[in-house]
Amino acid sequence: MPSVDTTIQLIRPGSKVTSCSPALKDSPWNFDRVPVPAYGPGSSMADVAPVSTPRQGEIPAEYRTASAAELDGRIRAAKATLGDRLVILGHFYQRDEVVQYADFVGDSFQLAQAARDRPAAEAIVFCGVHFMAETADMLSGPNQSVILPNLAAGCSMADMADIDSVTECWEALEELYGTEPDASGRVPVILVTYMNSSAALKGFCGEHGGIVCTSSNAATVLEWAFERGQRVLFFPDQHLGRNTAKAMGVPLERMPMWNPQKPLGGNDIETIQDAQVILWHGFCSVHKRFTVAQIEQARAQYPGVRVIVHPECPMPVVDAADEAGSTDYIKKAIEAAEPGQVFAIGTEINMVQRLQAEHPEHTIFCLDPVICPCSTMYRIHPGYLAWVLEAFVRGEVLNQITVGDEVSVPARVALERMLAARP
Ligand code: SF4
Repeated sequence: MPSVDTTIQLIRPGSKVTSCSPALKDSPWNFDRVPVPAYGPGSSMADVAPVSTPRQGEIPAEYRTASAAELDGRIRAAKATLGDRLVILGHFYQRDEVVQYADFVGDSFQLAQAARDRPAAEAIVFCGVHFMAETADMLSGPNQSVILPNLAAGCSMADMADIDSVTECWEALEELYGTEPDASGRVPVILVTYMNSSAALKGFCGEHGGIVCTSSNAATVLEWAFERGQRVLFFPDQHLGRNTAKAMGVPLERMPMWNPQKPLGGNDIETIQDAQVILWHGFCSVHKRFTVAQIEQARAQYPGVRVIVHPECPMPVVDAADEAGSTDYIKKAIEAAEPGQVFAIGTEINMVQRLQAEHPEHTIFCLDPVICPCSTMYRIHPGYLAWVLEAFVRGEVLNQITVGDEVSVPARVALERMLAARP
């Protein structure tokens, strides 16, 4: 099964293989020269990257011009030299050209735990995106360096909620609801941030009695929040918040969306007063691509197909699917299935292609027929990996991600609350 990188090389006029952008055939360093911050080719390319988005300077020509075979030899040699001093972590959505070097592959929280569980590693090279590397830094030891091979590997969804906008929203809600608990001791609002958010927002939650959730434990975390608060402000992903709260019985009319560009988030005062879950105006551009029509098409083509989608997909897609669950849920569902099943999966293409390669006993395909990977993961390429590894062999730490104590101390409180809330 070819990786996305290999597959997009097959795209030719007249080919049945289509991609969302011809720029996917370009090398990611072509985007390091773009004068304004941009996510690069793939699902998020239409999203506006904030001015504060980290930029990646151009890497030396020797890494940009090296052949795949040369980079492979250099990465393997650096890994062999560094031994246990190094651990490479790869996210499920990362391209195969990079994942092949990972010592551990998982979702964002599993990777952060993997970083914590390898105290011997001096360098944790995180082949994921920026917020994941921040979490790894907060959970790893003080003598470990977390390295993100390409600083432009951010997350468009995480960037949709910034600390200033969330602080303004929080202050507006405090003004409206006050700060006093009700007769049963529940405070007016509990903050819940998805793992896919900046460390600053996790810290804000920790400071103000809030909590972090993942796509695996969002329902447990919302239960925790409703025990302590009259309502929840959920950010940045509206879809995970809506899908989870709806499954728990929260009516849609009590889940208004908060648009930070508008007064009162674009709502009237009665709607906000009656709200049970206030959803931030954020989304994942990868999962937003899935549609009910794609599910209908899959069912028409493969009667009996099992449709599993990620809860970052829009609500009508989750409702039309057979199941919705995190990347770990999808992986385990396929591993546990009797041979010969057909799966249509609504999540990122790299993960779906890898699942098909690992499970030839099943037919597994991505619901979206267009090749459109997560743009920000796509920014990490073996050239960047070779660059940071060879520097570390020489004793240089490049692209280190660090979170200061003023943020990491309260952010760990919010993460600890999540761990304690786990069933
Ligand atoms: S898949 Fe979506 S949420 Fe995940 S890193 Fe990419 S843009 Fe962010």
